[in-house]
Amino acid sequence: MKDNQALPQSGWNFDNSYARLPQSLFTPLIPIPVSSPSLAVLNEPLAASLGLNAQALQSPDGVAVFAGNRIPEGAYPLAQAYAGHQFGYFNRLGDGRALLLGEQMTLQGERFDIQLKGSGVTPYSRNGDGRAALGPMLREYIISEAMHGLGIPTTRSLAVVTTGQPIQRETEQPGAILTRVAASHIRVGTFQYIAQWGTIEELRALSDYTIQRHYAEIDSEEKDNRYLQLLQEVTQRQAALIAKWQLVGFIHGVMNTDNMAISGETIDYGPCAFMDTYDPATVFSSIDRQGRYAYGNQPYIGGWNLARFAEALLPLLHEDDAQAVTLAEEALSEYTGSYQRYWLAGMRAKLGIFNEEQQDETLIESLLEMMKKYRADYTNTFVALTLDATESQENDMFGTAEFVSWNELWHARLVRQQESKAASHQLMRNSNPAVIPRNHRVEEALDAAVTQGDYSVMERLLAVLSNPYENTPEQEEYCALPAQTSLPYRTYCGT
Ligand code: AMP
Ligand code: MG
Repeated sequence: MKDNQALPQSGWNFDNSYARLPQSLFTPLIPIPVSSPSLAVLNEPLAASLGLNAQALQSPDGVAVFAGNRIPEGAYPLAQAYAGHQFGYFNRLGDGRALLLGEQMTLQGERFDIQLKGSGVTPYSRNGDGRAALGPMLREYIISEAMHGLGIPTTRSLAVVTTGQPIQRETEQPGAILTRVAASHIRVGTFQYIAQWGTIEELRALSDYTIQRHYAEIDSEEKDNRYLQLLQEVTQRQAALIAKWQLVGFIHGVMNTDNMAISGETIDYGPCAFMDTYDPATVFSSIDRQGRYAYGNQPYIGGWNLARFAEALLPLLHEDDAQAVTLAEEALSEYTGSYQRYWLAGMRAKLGIFNEEQQDETLIESLLEMMKKYRADYTNTFVALTLDATESQENDMFGTAEFVSWNELWHARLVRQQESKAASHQLMRNSNPAVIPRNHRVEEALDAAVTQGDYSVMERLLAVLSNPYENTPEQEEYCALPAQTSLPYRTYCGT
């Protein structure tokens, strides 16, 4: 009894604003308990930033929350309804294997969704078992934390527990639950769901809620068309987000409209992976046979998804249908230019360029062309340029006359700015990650964890990825490319 009293409180402090939205948006539901939960990983820094006590979270009661076996006080678990275009085809969806526990309110007044992924079947499950396998949940943990380390808006991973219950996939896998932390889980598909099956009042309620939660600046300005502003702001955030993906070579893999968060965070890490050899046609996902979600196609798909968002908002944009469409088209037409500006600004930084010159885009494009031609590694090329270490690189590109003349142009370009060489070098260091979660390194970490219960490989990888711009000697080891194989790397949807 005494010991119990001495135990620190976990610090859960829930509000449930989503549950106050129209009921058609969700189904209240208790997670299905699991037989013998065990904590696999806990993100202690994230726990602390959420106002949670890591020690209490690791106690049996704490772990029971991550397993869905215990509902913390103040939580109101629910499965969210949504729809989405999956590979271009519209479907009714929803949390088929996830539950929102509620929103953790931090001492600073921030609000974060706490979601259990893999918590059992829901009314939205359709065919699946509502569960998740350990490998894919650890994979989401690693890649989402790597994205955070890279400074890219993303959902985060607080914990993974194993359930003690094997699940059937191609082979039998250990079952697991991921606790995901997000600005929210409102998706383009959430709007599509209400636009298709709800009322205009419900659509307005969802839009007002989204504005208040993620775009408070619209709220305070009292502009006459706040829904048009919402579309414009979401467009900006997506353009900025996808530019960041492109700049580090991140391939989401399944950019269905249900996997695009209105908050502007990267969400739903399934078949995602980082590109090594530079090639816009790179696809890792086993189910993406047409290359719809290839690296080079991501900016276009971002625009396509935003058009679906705009369609869902039409009834709120104007009472006259034709005028609503005109407003939507005007807003959407900003996307391509905005994306290009974000991308170009990022690329300039990767090359140490501060000011703008007309020919910068040509300089960048010709480097990329060369990288494609010589199958250069995307990340390591920029690291070599940053560290002025092109001579030590194995890739043929660096020895060619083509590269030498490009290099001269680039160096001449760097002189045409006021900033010092040192400042330029620093800008490059801050813009070019020394490490990314390379596929073979991720697989190695997952293999050790899943087959041997050895989490040390994953922990070392996470440590290196948490500070990718540091350029430490330890990171060098993680820059090595995978051994050449005849088989391309393949990723799966992780269901
Ligand atoms: P995703 O491809 O992970 O974005 O998921 C697409 C849809 O399939 C979502 O509605 C998920 O909830 C659902 N889903 C994925 N895996 C499962 C599963 N194991 N059981 C039930 N539903 C699932
Ligand atoms: Mg999804």
